[in-house]
Amino acid sequence: MNSQYLIDFDLSKIPVSRSDVLVIGGGIAGLTVAVTVAGELKTRVLAKGNVEQTSTWFAQGGIAVSLAPGDSPEMHYKDTMAAGGGLCDPEAVKVLVEEAAPAVSMLTDMGAEFDKVNGSFHFVREGGHSVARVVHAGDATGNVVSASLVAAAKSRKNIHFTPDTFVLDILESEGRCCGVLAYEQKTGQVEAYLASAVVLAAGGMGQIYDVTTNPLVASGDGLAMAERRGVKLAGLEFIQFHPTALDTKENPRFLISEAIRGEGAHLVNKDGQRFMTDLHPLGELAPRDIVSRAVVDVMEADKADHVFIDARHIGEEKLKKRFPSIWDHCLKAGYDMSKELIPVNPAAHYLIGGIVTDLYGRTSLDGLFASGEVASTGVHGANRLASNSLLEGLVFSRRVGRYLLDNLKAGANVDDVRLRSAANRQAGKSLVSARESLRKMMSEKTGVIRTSEGLKAAAATLKDESHLLDYEYNNPHDWETINMITLARLIVSGALARRQSLGVHLVGS
Ligand SMILES: Cc1cc2nc3c(=O)[nH]c(=O)nc-3n(C[C@H](O)[C@H](O)[C@H](O)COP(=O)(O)OP(=O)(O)OC[C@H]3O[C@@H](n4cnc5c(N)ncnc54)[C@H](O)[C@@H]3O)c2cc1C
Repeated sequence: MNSQYLIDFDLSKIPVSRSDVLVIGGGIAGLTVAVTVAGELKTRVLAKGNVEQTSTWFAQGGIAVSLAPGDSPEMHYKDTMAAGGGLCDPEAVKVLVEEAAPAVSMLTDMGAEFDKVNGSFHFVREGGHSVARVVHAGDATGNVVSASLVAAAKSRKNIHFTPDTFVLDILESEGRCCGVLAYEQKTGQVEAYLASAVVLAAGGMGQIYDVTTNPLVASGDGLAMAERRGVKLAGLEFIQFHPTALDTKENPRFLISEAIRGEGAHLVNKDGQRFMTDLHPLGELAPRDIVSRAVVDVMEADKADHVFIDARHIGEEKLKKRFPSIWDHCLKAGYDMSKELIPVNPAAHYLIGGIVTDLYGRTSLDGLFASGEVASTGVHGANRLASNSLLEGLVFSRRVGRYLLDNLKAGANVDDVRLRSAANRQAGKSLVSARESLRKMMSEKTGVIRTSEGLKAAAATLKDESHLLDYEYNNPHDWETINMITLARLIVSGALARRQSLGVHLVGS
């Protein structure tokens, strides 16, 4: 653990704002907490990017909910447990599947419009689901979800949004979280935000890899700041790779949603042959870890950088209608999906582990809550079932909100905090090249298939780089990079400690 704060500060010398609830993050998790509590508790939301720079906004496929005829929470429970490789927390999964329907209703009540056929939801089948269970808004579900939450938040009294604010560290006083230290990106001012409860909803860490579907903000800041305060984290070695990101030089990589395979698209090798049908009874819709491994194996056998999605038989009209964003993006990248094969390969996509929470989002630090991708509620085990993460963000953030409404007194603010940090470290040099080498190294050594030698080499490189943590930096890029190095160490040590393949942690020879 690196217990230092990212920068020196003295609370008596910087502006201090107070609220009842402080939420870090403007994705599905943060906004759901905020709209749940804001009527009664003075709430502030801090985010370093805008709403379009969140994984929530990027989400394509949809939200799993067992509302289709013939489906049930029990079936959703079984599929989630089966995908999780024996590591799911049964209580958490029960909560997830049983509270899914009211959570989705909350969104529709806020105006989210999901696709319908004859007045009922249109359900799609995705990898690992035994039935079609995913509600969606075309292929841009995240846009619709974000927009409805933003509209609901705007209509609530008592919510204060503070965008362009980079949260550096959690503040802790007498064993309790009492707020955060933040940097206003427009003015360069460092400020403290104190609150009776802090909810970390700062999303994932895909940017630690050089091939990822995650937005640029996903540098794992929430996880690293929790680690600096000694908050319990778990399962960081469980990183889900999405098997089908469009093979371009973009960062982030554009995702070709699993829903397209749900509509019948095939995965084929360089000779146009399907390779999933012999490997798993669900074929192309096998759980993601199995598909990602198969894709890597085929790429190796073919000595190629990608495999292909073949969606030609679906036809132009249906492709355009059902997947308008994917159609447009592929066309801009030079591929007509109705006539050509689409080159794809795996990309870091989702962090399964995270800050350990109970069923109300409580962490090991009093006063600190976590929800969304940053949290480890136990619902995903060793492998997340497709479209269960937006759902987790919704269900558990509503629980955090309701817990706060029941247990927090409005106006009971933290008044008497006199924190300072005076480590007096030297100024560090720019970390631009350190970040690039880290991202490359993480992809090479801790990607879809890990080896013991690769992980040991990664650990040695990270040890060599550890001196970088001894300096103080003065800008968001370098703070993010320090957070990434902090997390990379945890990912590598977690992966080294887990010697056997399990779920998305695949150990090769
Ligand atoms: C391309 C793509 C497609 C996906 N499709 C689906 C899907 O179809 N179904 C599904 O269930 N899941 C999907 N997922 C996963 C799902 O979208 C995410 O797990 C989920 O949206 C995470 O929500 P969140 O609120 O936890 O984080 P995010 O939505 O990522 O929000 C994180 C917030 O934290 C803020 N933040 C981060 N660091 C700081 C800091 N230091 N200071 C201040 N603020 C900070 C960011 O600015 C942002 O506002 C997809 C993910 C991607 C990337």
